[in-house]
Amino acid sequence: MNKEGHVLNAVLLSIGLGYVFYPAGDVPTFRAIAEMSVPIILGALFPDVDTAFGKHRKTLHNLPVLAIIYGYTVFFNNLHFVWIGVATHYVLDVVGSKRGIALFYPYTKEYGLPVGVAVSSERAGIVTVAISVLEVALVAAVVHLQLPIQDLSATVSGLV
Ligand SMILES: [Zn+2]
Repeated sequence: MNKEGHVLNAVLLSIGLGYVFYPAGDVPTFRAIAEMSVPIILGALFPDVDTAFGKHRKTLHNLPVLAIIYGYTVFFNNLHFVWIGVATHYVLDVVGSKRGIALFYPYTKEYGLPVGVAVSSERAGIVTVAISVLEVALVAAVVHLQLPIQDLSATVSGLV
């Protein structure tokens, strides 16, 4: 996706997450949206810096980079929410566009899903909105439906 798509995705995700965690639509909701939006937008813009430095869709489009950005929240107690922007950038590239990303770079194979549209497609906007809605729905399901994820992991580890 282009920068416009990544910013749109980040803005919609920030608003959606604000309502997932503070559904009342009052001051705490808008405070959460304000707190998350700029870091998520910055994170969503970051991976495409590799159009100028390194190899596009590889150098900054991979899980080690996501782990490093997330590590800042754990080890330095800063860059909160930026990793969410980086993660949603990857999701949008993998799901929403035809070309994949090199998730395990420096291993250079690019992984994508057989869905999505060309970055230049006029449907890129609607695909971006749809993916944003699905992301928010997924987080809402995990947060509010108390999905039996722990039961599932216990089941899986019981099989090994
Ligand atoms: Zn990208």
